[in-house]
Amino acid sequence: MFPADLDAPKFLADARAALAQSRVQLERFLALPADASFQQVIESFDAIGRPLDRVRGAIGLASQVHPLEGVRDVSNEFTVELSTYYSELSLNRAVYERLARLDPAQAASPLEARLLRNTLRDFRRSGVDRDDATRERIQKLNDELTLLGIEFDSNIAKDTRSITIGDGHAGLKGLPADYLAAHPQNERGEVVITTDGPDYHPFMSYAQRGDLRRELYRASVSRATPRNIEVLQGMLEKRHELATLLGYRSWAEYVTEDKMIASAGNAVAFVERTAAAARTRLGAELADMLAMARRDEPSAAILHDWQKSYLIERIKSERLNFDSTAVRPYLAYGAVRDGVLATTAALFSLEFRRNDSEARWHDSVECYDVLDGGKHVARFYLDMHPRPQKYKHGAMFDLSVGVDDGIPKAALVCNFPRPTATDPGLLQHSDVETFFHEFGHLMHHLFGGRQRFLAFSGIATEWDFVEAPSQMYEEWAWDTGVLQRFARHHETGEPIPEELVARMRAAKEYGKGLQVATQMYYAALALELHDRDPRGLDTTERMVALKARFLPFPHEEGTAFQASFGHLNGYSAIYYTYMWSLVIAKDLFSRFEGDLMNRQVAASYRRSILSAGGTKDAAELTRDFLGRDYSTAPFEAWLNRG
Ligand SMILES: [Zn+2]
Repeated sequence: MFPADLDAPKFLADARAALAQSRVQLERFLALPADASFQQVIESFDAIGRPLDRVRGAIGLASQVHPLEGVRDVSNEFTVELSTYYSELSLNRAVYERLARLDPAQAASPLEARLLRNTLRDFRRSGVDRDDATRERIQKLNDELTLLGIEFDSNIAKDTRSITIGDGHAGLKGLPADYLAAHPQNERGEVVITTDGPDYHPFMSYAQRGDLRRELYRASVSRATPRNIEVLQGMLEKRHELATLLGYRSWAEYVTEDKMIASAGNAVAFVERTAAAARTRLGAELADMLAMARRDEPSAAILHDWQKSYLIERIKSERLNFDSTAVRPYLAYGAVRDGVLATTAALFSLEFRRNDSEARWHDSVECYDVLDGGKHVARFYLDMHPRPQKYKHGAMFDLSVGVDDGIPKAALVCNFPRPTATDPGLLQHSDVETFFHEFGHLMHHLFGGRQRFLAFSGIATEWDFVEAPSQMYEEWAWDTGVLQRFARHHETGEPIPEELVARMRAAKEYGKGLQVATQMYYAALALELHDRDPRGLDTTERMVALKARFLPFPHEEGTAFQASFGHLNGYSAIYYTYMWSLVIAKDLFSRFEGDLMNRQVAASYRRSILSAGGTKDAAELTRDFLGRDYSTAPFEAWLNRG
């Protein structure tokens, strides 16, 4: 891909040269003769983006993982140039008008007709066909929304709150030894606990002192208040104005239109239906939780937010006798990596061959060539261990669809422990799940690869379908047969015991009702705030009212969770997409259930869904694979199982 000693100025110059080539293609498109054929016009339009295939993903990856600051800086610089270019293109009236003049009846195939239809739809959704004054207002609203979004996120990121525990470690009863070691008492004998994830989640799950959990919970759901209440109001008002300018009733209506779910009404109905499906299970879990709470406080009549995680953990450890650390000795990094690769290769009848001659940006990065029937068809990179200045989460970065050489490329970036001569690099089981999840995205991109049109290449599918292949592939991390292929004790070589996997699965199953209800409350809130004229709206009042419909925990007066609900920026109204993708994933998985290594089903899945890229609507892809329309039944069966 690129080496560790990459020359930053040259990297930037190459990227700019590709952008210049794209501009040349744009000029060629605009200079097409008036009598150019339908095919000439759409081919020429598609060619505008092709020179950028080589650099777009490389720049995106470099900005997140390259060890040299100079390379990350020029990558960020070019990212801004590229996004300005795409934004100008989406509002380029001459390009739009040239395409709008085409006669759809001249399309030689459904694919050509689809390209024209989707392209014109996207142009219209950007407002290209509006008069000059309106387009100016749209541009201004977009700019303002970008700034408000940055402020919303940064107010959350910089507002870490904390509680001070006066009696020090005595207040941390129930927390494991490594947590205590990481939180020493200060000279006054106090301990400070923050609202950051690594502090917060263990505390809410294990701290025995309910009063302290309540204090920390209140601190967490007060983050970014009061400022973000105002920022959110501004975002809602500007989005609403933008949506109505573009001819939509609300922002929720606008943002769902090009998704699988297709309308705000469908999304609301999905949320209601899913919450209803979880109700029985939720009721049973709440009864368990109340019974557990009454052991400490016999007169307890209601449950609170700050009790949830703690009570669920206690029920799990008592009933299921499961300790997640018991799994780690079976999950040494090297064995897991080889296992995920071997499982995927066997499933799709591929060969992954390590390639040590390709340039890599760090000595821990590996490159693999994908061979299909002996033919080199794709390439991927694994950048799996943490280091300073590297991206902190797990993600698949698509690098190219293979315009230049026909070889699609991608990189997995994760942060798993790195093995050394003395340390096997033991993973958590959640890391193994993440590995399979990201590998699901990876195979989607590599198989989706280069289609006839760039617009349909790679993972060019609806936003609310994108997580379905990855969420489905997580199932492989929970299957005894699959795990026993590679999860062996790093000292004894013994395969992971079946009964340990069974207890691990049971622990995962418990609490599903509460999880689904909580997710649907978030989804409903995101939709509700965006499906109306927000002038005069009291978002706290709406939040409290909606929560009461989905969850039985009373509102903590004086808090305002929506101010730190970060997805209200990036996802706006469409938080539902996570659960929607999961519903589809459970349905797709129903064909594999009971035989996860079935190559025939895998071949059909690859052909119908992964290799199709964006050439069809996601609903049609799932129909091709399932032989019927998608159904929520497998999801509901999963919800009520166990
Ligand atoms: Zn994902």
